[in-house]
Order: sequence, then C-alpha cells, then structure tokens
Amino acid sequence: MKVAVFSTKPYDKEYLTSANDTFNANLEFEFYEAHLNKDTAILAKGSDAICCFVNDNIDADVLTQLVAFNIKDISLRCAGFNQVDLDKAKELGIRVARVPEYSPHAIAEHALALILALNRNIHRAHTRIRENDYSIHGLLGFDLHGKTVAVFGTGKIGATFAKVMKGLGCNVVAYDPYPNPDLLALDIPYVNLDQALNRADIISLHCPLMPETQYLINDETLAKTKKGVMVINTSRGGLIDTKAIIRGLKTGQVGYVGLDVYEEEGDLFFDDLSNQLLQDDVFARLLTFPNVVITGHQAFFTKEALINITDTVVQNLMDMRNNQIKASNRVA
Ligand code: NAD
Repeated sequence: MKVAVFSTKPYDKEYLTSANDTFNANLEFEFYEAHLNKDTAILAKGSDAICCFVNDNIDADVLTQLVAFNIKDISLRCAGFNQVDLDKAKELGIRVARVPEYSPHAIAEHALALILALNRNIHRAHTRIRENDYSIHGLLGFDLHGKTVAVFGTGKIGATFAKVMKGLGCNVVAYDPYPNPDLLALDIPYVNLDQALNRADIISLHCPLMPETQYLINDETLAKTKKGVMVINTSRGGLIDTKAIIRGLKTGQVGYVGLDVYEEEGDLFFDDLSNQLLQDDVFARLLTFPNVVITGHQAFFTKEALINITDTVVQNLMDMRNNQIKASNRVA
C-alpha cells in the first residue's frame, strides 16, 4: 500500500517508519513537507491512501481530486477532524480514520504548564535571568491551591486535566452537556455556562471545535467572568474570538492568556518563519502582552504520544487495506 504523507516533519518520518517496521506493515510511505490543499493534492496521485495532520485542508475540492486519483482512504495522525469535510467524504465513499486517543496526559500536562508559566511568570523570569537581572519585582504570582478552575469539555483530555487540577487542591467545576461519570464520582460538580464563567479563576478549554462552540469565548462570555480571569486554550483556536480576548486583555478583564492553538494558526504554526515578516496583525498584538504565553500547537508533542499516534496511524492503514477499520477510529 502506497501512502502519501502530507505536512511531514522529521519526527513524523522517524516515528512512522519505526511503527511500519514494528508492525511489519509493509507500507510504502512517500513523505511530503507540503500541506495538503487543492494545489498540492496532485502529489498524492499514484498513492493508495493519504496521511494528514491538523492544518491540512481536506475540503470538497481536495476530496474530489483524491477520488479522481482513485484514493479512498485517509488516515489522520491527530484526534480532531474539523479539517475534513466529512459530509463530502461520505458522499464520495472516502473512508477517514483518526487517532481518537493517544495521550490525554500530554495535553492536560501542557495546559498545566501554561497555567504555571503564566501564574509564576516563568517566561519573564527566564528572560530576566539571562540578562543578569535578578530582581523579582513584577513577578508576583498566586497559589493555585483553593482557586476555582472551570473545565470546558470533560472528555478524555478535560477529565484528565480536571483530575490533575483537583490534585493541586483547586476547586474544579465542569461544563459539558454530557457529564463524565468519572468526574461525578470525584464530586466534581457540573454547572451551566454562566455559572462556569462567573465562578472561574481559570478557564481551560477542552471541547471540540464545532459550529456550537465556535467563539465560545467572546465579548459577551468574557463580560461574565471574574476580572483578571486566566483563559487557557489547548483545544482549537476557533473556540476563542481572538479580537475579543485582546479587548479583554487591554481592559484587564482578562488577566492571563495561555494558548497552544490559534484560530489562524494554519499560516503560522509548525514552520520556521523566522526570516519572514509576521503578516498577522492580530497575532502580532497578542505577542505584545507580558501576560500572554503562546506555544505552537505542541501540547500533543511527547514521545509517548508520538509512539501511540504513529502506531494507530499504521494500524488504521493496515485495517483499511483489510477493509476492517475499527468503528471507534472511523469518522467517515
Ligand atoms: P473528547 O471527544 O474525548 O471530549 C470532548 C468533550 O467535549 C466531550 O465530553 C463533549 O461532550 C464535550 N463537548 C461537546 N460540546 C461541548 C460544548 N458545547 N460545551 C462544552 N463541552 C462540550 O475529546 P478529547 O480527546 O478530550 O479532545 C478535546 C479536544 O482537544 C479535541 O477536540 C481537539 O480539538 C483538542 N486536542 C488538542 C491537541 C493539541 O495538541 N493542542 C491534541 C489533541 C486534541
């Protein structure tokens, strides 16, 4: 089975090749650095399947081209699938498999890393020390113990994060239309949206990006939070109206922002653009705040997660070859 791998980075090549060997899968990978879009889809011609990541654009146009190349299998090396036009894929008979779970700990722990970096000003302290400045004025933090953390979305990642924060002595409240029995068993209360916004010292987003959750954090919802609230997003950029959060930062309504994802990240993240001028003025404004910490969609990036991701991708491709895709992994 010949597989065109898009948005390839050196670690993708290394871990996919290793999983292919481990499983004796005999997959022939063709690695492309290019993102998949209507202009690059031609690279897949001659392959039997494709393998994609979060910022590949698998829209109706791309799917139509793939079918014309007789490609009917897509193995995603991520959990989210909002980058795929699933309705079109189903209409064209294209099968799409994802990696539903690889390490909820990786993302939950990264959310905690953002919280601690912001709260204890680690990013600013690091810069000061490197400049021989050992003053601590301006770096005052607060104890996490006893603070209220609202977890938006309590699936695999949100539930793991909620347990971590409870372990630190925080009061955890959950907001999710489908309560998680594991968290109910830990006496973590489920509250409605307004209650979650009103009570939280820290809001952490772990729900998927869907039409109902697009811009969940906006001017109106931010007006209902405590002044100086901390907002953490390790889920998908589109959950936050970035211009609204900038307005909140400017008035002090928002005290801290930690982001691993950004609504326009497709043009920025995963590439070295250090020799180019930043064209995104909204992102540029975000970078000016001392109380904003941003990482470039790296929450998933642990050794354990990469092994689990590539093992599942290879397994999904073998299952596609045998026409036996696991129902839990299949999204189209
Ligand atoms: P999951 O499907 O296990 O859980 C999602 C939860 O969100 C579910 O419990 C669901 O009921 C809830 N939900 C749905 N609509 C909601 C709404 N309107 N309000 C509140 N909650 C709602 O997913 P998961 O594996 O925990 O992943 C969560 C998200 O994390 C994914 O959608 C993905 O976008 C993101 N993610 C990011 C990274 C990263 O590297 N930054 C890595 C993996 C996943």
